[in-house]
Amino acid sequence: MIDDAAHAVTARTRLIALLGDPVAHSLSPIFQNSAFRASGVDGTYLALRCEADSLPGLLLGIARGGGGGNVTVPHKTLAAEVVERRTAAVESTGACNTFWLEGGRVCGDNTDVAGVRAAVHALVGSPAGKRVLLLGAGGAARAAVAALLDDEVTAIHLLNRTPARAAALRESFAAGGSSPGDPAGVLRVVPAGAPLDAERFDLVVNATSLGLRAEDPLPLTFDLVGEVGAALDLVYAPGETRWVRVARAGGIRAADGIEMLLHQGAAAFERWWQRPAPLEAMRAALSSAGPRADGSP
Ligand code: NAP
Repeated sequence: MIDDAAHAVTARTRLIALLGDPVAHSLSPIFQNSAFRASGVDGTYLALRCEADSLPGLLLGIARGGGGGNVTVPHKTLAAEVVERRTAAVESTGACNTFWLEGGRVCGDNTDVAGVRAAVHALVGSPAGKRVLLLGAGGAARAAVAALLDDEVTAIHLLNRTPARAAALRESFAAGGSSPGDPAGVLRVVPAGAPLDAERFDLVVNATSLGLRAEDPLPLTFDLVGEVGAALDLVYAPGETRWVRVARAGGIRAADGIEMLLHQGAAAFERWWQRPAPLEAMRAALSSAGPRADGSP
């Protein structure tokens, strides 16, 4: 049983804030505050809606005041520019979703990369040497590419509604920067309308926003692909997403985005508190919160 009196807000309590717009329906305050209580750390997690103009001042001020936080849509790219030290995950994806103060400097990480990696490993084990079909080319797809390249997959085929955006994603990873980049040419863009019926993929990842609404079409019809080993939906819904349900009905191993949500939060916790995250307390808080479908932190 948790003693709430022992977790009262005092002058020593650290503010950990979620900055984004919108934030009102975020699950992070619920599962992070549960994690803080379970670990006995002295912090309070709050969601603050903010516009782009306010983001730099809020982010830097909260961190320099001894706090930290998360950043969500639409500010992850701006946050990557604002922080003073960037992890390799921020450099490779151009996005920052977690910030904190270390050695007097405001640091930024993109824990979506650790989150998607954990979700992939939970579903298929190490993806090293595997062939992946990645649906989407937005922020979640970038996090997936960073994780999969790091895990040394053989091929990532990028299929996106707007092929030019997939090409831009491929170019930005091929350019490398301070990240490992794509020196082996692992990333390939699937042209619009290209047949996939002769292709075999060990893993298909849905990183589009399709599945958020009940009326959305499926991000991919499995019949169109020669063979699919497993399907990971980064979207999640109470119970399971429709795409996950369809995959399982077809005998394909599948999971939704709840594991990614959990692990991006756990990695952020570890940045703020420099100690292991209480995963089971976080998992329990998430399942009793009844996750909504949009996967926002
Ligand atoms: P984003 O940057 O806005 O990208 C959205 C992607 O979805 C783009 O590739 C877009 O294609 C595609 N798309 C949107 N509507 C479409 C449609 N009607 N038909 C086909 N493709 C469509 O969003 P994001 O940040 O990458 O997030 C994508 C999803 O990932 C979120 O909705 C969320 O559910 C999930 N996510 C989950 C977690 C988690 O922890 N589980 C974390 C982050 C994100 P175009 O390029 O053609 O517009």
